[in-house]
Amino acid sequence: MQSLTDPSIPLFNTPFTTLFLILFGLGLGLRFWLATRQLRHVARHRATPPSAFADAITPEAHQKAADYTLAKTRLARLQLPVEAALLLALTLGGGLQFLHALTDPHQYFWMQALSLGELWHGALLLISLAVASALVDLPFDLWRQFVIDVRFDFNRQTLRGYLLDMVRQTLVGLAIGLPLILLILWLMGIAGQHWWLWAWLVWAGFNLTLLSLYPTLIAPLFNRFTPLPEGELCSRIEGLLTRCGFHASGVFVMDGSRRSSHGNAYFTGFGKSRRIVFYDTLLNQINPAETEAVLAHELGHAHHQHIKRRLTMMFTLSLGLLYLLAQFKQMPAFYTGFGVSTATDATALALFVLLLPVLLFPFSPVFSAGSRRHEFEADRYAAQHSSADHLIAALLKLYRENASTLTPDPLYALFYDSHPKPTERIGQLQALKPAPTH
Ligand SMILES: [Zn+2]
Repeated sequence: MQSLTDPSIPLFNTPFTTLFLILFGLGLGLRFWLATRQLRHVARHRATPPSAFADAITPEAHQKAADYTLAKTRLARLQLPVEAALLLALTLGGGLQFLHALTDPHQYFWMQALSLGELWHGALLLISLAVASALVDLPFDLWRQFVIDVRFDFNRQTLRGYLLDMVRQTLVGLAIGLPLILLILWLMGIAGQHWWLWAWLVWAGFNLTLLSLYPTLIAPLFNRFTPLPEGELCSRIEGLLTRCGFHASGVFVMDGSRRSSHGNAYFTGFGKSRRIVFYDTLLNQINPAETEAVLAHELGHAHHQHIKRRLTMMFTLSLGLLYLLAQFKQMPAFYTGFGVSTATDATALALFVLLLPVLLFPFSPVFSAGSRRHEFEADRYAAQHSSADHLIAALLKLYRENASTLTPDPLYALFYDSHPKPTERIGQLQALKPAPTH
């Protein structure tokens, strides 16, 4: 542990502080402006659905989607300054240094008996950060689910169920996160100047293990999975899998309806443990032919190796970021620039975790654009191996049932949307339909 109370090191007045304040201010302003644009655009187009959807979406359904989008965006815009205030309090406000002092196990007599060392001090600091951020987000989450989603009739969960979920998520998060934090802090302490490479290997290995264990070990803690019963959908899925040369170790229905009425489907896992999962809510919304087209879209993602490509990108990025942290970690200005006067591995890591979203926000249009390109590719695959018509029908029903807006603000969508705008998506599928034969 290195104390940085040397008066020759300027507090708050470092290039790190300046760069942070510029990126932070621009990012916050941009987010606020985009949310405001989205509110204006959706409100302006609230009266009638776009002409391409006039047959499929009634004006009432369109207005419900607009009102739902407006309510959620207003709340998200309100959340922006609150989260920004927390970040400022933790950095320039000296909050991180305060938490560092608060989480020192030596000062608590009941912890002294456990003789926890610096590793545990660091882990407690990082956990306290996660708790602080969760507490600030909690009222917004509650409002989203128990006010907005109740008003629009999407919520299917009681407050008790929500709290039970929270307890379970915390326990699972601790069981997975705590060993990872301890291992990385330990490596930072003993692996010398190349610690970042070792930490990256551990991080990547942890992620891959988690991804392969998630479907069979973790997801069942939160939902019930039952094999899809025999019937039309089952035989359609078998036909599709054979046509596409895929193998799945099981097709399951998940009780998504225990939390919300929003529907979804996914194709998950690696190699032999791959499984197909449909939310029960999805199967209530669309028919077997349409469900087959939705699954074909998911197979398209697998065929084009979108998940592998995203993972490769994420791992490359995290390698670069860990290298960056290794450089920053050696500079006193990195700590003092954010009000931290105790340079430890844990305070460096904590600062980095706090600053990362500010650093990465300018790149969000790039990530979103990549994701939208993948969605177009998966749609083309579905049109080829299933049916463009059925996918269009499914998408229209899902837009309606989930009250997704058909008229997002173009700039807002460019920044945030992982899926193409409905008009563009349906437009591509219509162009892919086989020409009618006479
Ligand atoms: Zn997709």
